[in-house]
Amino acid sequence: MPTIFAKIIAKEIPASIVYQDELVTAFKDINPVAPVHILIVPNVEIASTNDVLPEHEQMLGHLFTVAKQVAKEQGVAESGYRLIVNNGSDSGQEVPHLHIHLIGGRKLGPLLQARD
Ligand code: 5GP
Repeated sequence: MPTIFAKIIAKEIPASIVYQDELVTAFKDINPVAPVHILIVPNVEIASTNDVLPEHEQMLGHLFTVAKQVAKEQGVAESGYRLIVNNGSDSGQEVPHLHIHLIGGRKLGPLLQARD
């Protein structure tokens, strides 16, 4: 069963794609938490970081090269941005297709709120 992101990558459902090549796709998050909120996704379906294999290393490095390029194109390279990868239930991961959130365009505050 393909994930919603696999359908976006295959252009079976619409999304605002800002970058795509043979390894990765980057598109705007449907529910942005900041003025810039882009998801950078491997084209191959990897459910989470728990499922990463040595053969993915080159592609995973490429995700960061694309993140750098997208940050520049979105105008946040100098102002700053945050890259987030959720993994599993406690992180709140909703879509079981590995992805980097690139978030910026405003002050983002602390990484996490302290909780007891
Ligand atoms: P996660 O919680 O898995 O790290 O993040 C999943 C992200 O995917 C969420 O920020 C959510 O808004 C986004 N998302 C879920 N469904 C869609 C969709 O159909 N299109 C787009 N563009 N983003 C989606």
